Amino acid sequence: MELLNLHRIVDVTLAEGPGARCAVWTQGCSVRCPGCFNPQTWSTRGGFSLSWQDLAARVLAVSGIEGVTLLGGEPFDQAGPLGLFAAAVRSAGLSVMTFTGHVLEDLPPSLLVDSTDLLVDGPFLADRPEPSRPWVGSANQRFRFLTDRYDESIFATPNRLELTIARDGAIELNGFATTEVLEALLEGERR
Ligand code: SF4
Repeated sequence: MELLNLHRIVDVTLAEGPGARCAVWTQGCSVRCPGCFNPQTWSTRGGFSLSWQDLAARVLAVSGIEGVTLLGGEPFDQAGPLGLFAAAVRSAGLSVMTFTGHVLEDLPPSLLVDSTDLLVDGPFLADRPEPSRPWVGSANQRFRFLTDRYDESIFATPNRLELTIARDGAIELNGFATTEVLEALLEGERR
């Protein structure tokens, strides 16, 4: 059984793509963009192992989501089992949004590409910050509408930051904010 190496799963979020979604961060990134916001996902060590079948069962047990978002790390470093996962959840009616640090033209054919509705491609370039579109860090990154499930109307969705406080007091943050917004939040914290 080919295992996935994962960094984190958030069962329901409004901050990682259009609508309510399950977000899955993979562990391991061979792209390694300078200035990446998630360098803790670069190493293939760490994270946790899960079969794609178990991940699919977990996601399909979540109610009220319209899809899954695959983030990195670099999802295409694990394109084989992630493609099987994506095909399974799509055949159950969920949409699949996948982020990659590669450009689509450089990706070899894969079930993961074939099972992705919305691909966000391209490396993070720290010197080209994205001025307006949600969920992406730099302006070179492209939204590739691979099926008719989504279109440019998704750009009206605002970026969100989600703060989750678990029963044990653990705090988790996900979503996307510009450096300016984060600095403004921290400034408010200091006052
Ligand atoms: S591809 Fe994503 S996770 Fe990997 S270095 Fe670039 S921004 Fe970071």
